[in-house]
Amino acid sequence: MQKRALQFLSLVIPVYNEEETLPFLRESLAAWLPSLGGTRTEVILVDDGSADASLAFLEAWSAEDPRIKVLSFSRNFGHQAAVTAGLKHVRGDACVIIDADLQDPLAVIPEMIKRYEEGYDVVYGQRRRREGETFFKRCTAWIFYRTMERCMNVPLPLDTGDFRLVSRACIDAVNAMPESHRFLRGMFAWVGFAQAAVPYARDPRKYGETKYPLRKMLSFAWQGISSFSTLPIRLVSYSGMCIAVAAFVAGLYAMTSYVRGDTVQGWTALTILLAGLGGMILLGLGIIGEYVGKIYEEVKGRPGYIIQRSFNLDKDE
Ligand code: UDP
Ligand code: MG
Repeated sequence: MQKRALQFLSLVIPVYNEEETLPFLRESLAAWLPSLGGTRTEVILVDDGSADASLAFLEAWSAEDPRIKVLSFSRNFGHQAAVTAGLKHVRGDACVIIDADLQDPLAVIPEMIKRYEEGYDVVYGQRRRREGETFFKRCTAWIFYRTMERCMNVPLPLDTGDFRLVSRACIDAVNAMPESHRFLRGMFAWVGFAQAAVPYARDPRKYGETKYPLRKMLSFAWQGISSFSTLPIRLVSYSGMCIAVAAFVAGLYAMTSYVRGDTVQGWTALTILLAGLGGMILLGLGIIGEYVGKIYEEVKGRPGYIIQRSFNLDKDE
């Protein structure tokens, strides 16, 4: 692997209704950035249509520091869209994607930079412990990562969120992927390149509340599975096959009953079969419909987000 030095680091930070956290983020960055020494830095904050004072804070911050670049969406397009927009504007040799609430500590980044300098293109943070998160969140996260691992055709590292360092080559590869439904951690796994993990303990959120309620979490999980796997559709075909075999056996049974002359019997079996089959057919149609809907969305070719305002974007640090 080729050794290299990091000259210019970009941070990409999605922000959605984070007015409570932003002052803390600003202070933390002010204290931490000097520790990078001579490395040039820029911070790309993407306001994902916040309805609170987040954008005003970002605007004031960027006016005082040319390293702070701000993009602001016309409405809430979602976390993945915000990170995607940030990645399109990265000018550094590498970038780190990190949440605004700093649950993923800045202190892990120097370790990531070290791995980058050893030659790795994707260095992801792997959560060892999740402090201060509810039992429910930990359970659903555990199930999510294991299900994803089973479903995906690419190896997705376990317990890994979007907190990661990615090299220029990898950013360019992901930016060149045209799909508008973006499941970034899957895309980073899909593009390949040398990957390394840095284990860390995830801190609790200090200010504000999670912006990922159950509804968003479920839709994100389905987004991940359906973007990277046709396993759900295959399961439908498998169960179709099993049901066909069962139907054949039931048919034989029906015929022998007919020969024996006790045809009124078997009503229960018929009802169960009818109901079961009806249910399976509807479920199958639903899953196929989800994919057709997704094709429809992609074919429309709409952008994944719309940038309404930006600050400092083309200003040099
Ligand atoms: N976020 C976003 N758009 C959304 C939801 C969240 O940009 O629709 C941002 C949010 O501001 C934060 C990051 O995504 O910087 C992760 O969100 P959060 O910390 O609420 O998620 P959790 O850590 O609870 O999974
Ligand atoms: Mg968080």
